[in-house]
Amino acid sequence: MQTRGNLFTVSAPSGAGKTSLVTALVDGLDGIRVSVSHTTRAKRPGEVDGVNYHFVSQDQFKEMLAEAAFLEHAQVFTNYYGTSKFWVEEQLASGVDVILEIDWQGAAQVRRLIPDTLGVFILPPSREALHQRLNGRGQDSAEVIDARMKEAINEMSHYVEADYLIINDDFDTALAEFKALIISQRLKQARQNERHRRLLADLLS
Ligand code: 5GP
Repeated sequence: MQTRGNLFTVSAPSGAGKTSLVTALVDGLDGIRVSVSHTTRAKRPGEVDGVNYHFVSQDQFKEMLAEAAFLEHAQVFTNYYGTSKFWVEEQLASGVDVILEIDWQGAAQVRRLIPDTLGVFILPPSREALHQRLNGRGQDSAEVIDARMKEAINEMSHYVEADYLIINDDFDTALAEFKALIISQRLKQARQNERHRRLLADLLS
């Protein structure tokens, strides 16, 4: 029988570099995939349907909700986001580790449904660095940036619910820490026991 993959939620305030870290992690490690969420929000420049998100209408989203197609879903600002239950289950069952890049509300829902889910939280190295990253190209008003800061602080206040914290100061260090965390889960005795049942039996015979 195939050993099930591990499920990870990765949360962070915007501006913490979550997506860059997750992308680099998945590019450099076999056997792990990121779930592509469904969202009702508008596509941003450069985003590709089916790659960054599955972009759907409010009606399509509601239909999927009614069909219980989501493992979890949440409203973030005025938009809806949801994770495909079928896709995640299919990956885990085939032994692939899955990352859900979702907010704290979604992470809490997933933890309730699948208690052995591991929660990872990514934080910026300082308040100043976060402020600077949220300032973007410096074209937004102070009010807009203050609102983003408030939202980021609200998201960050949920770090205590996560199992692991990564401070994204130096990108390469944060990436190495992230990778180590994923690999250490794969090396847990119970999992190795399942994966190497024959070897272990052989060694002890
Ligand atoms: P953005 O619209 O900037 O891509 O994402 C806004 C927020 O929605 C981020 O915190 C992101 O992690 C979260 N998010 C993206 N997809 C999902 C999802 O499927 N479920 C939940 N609960 N949050 C999501």
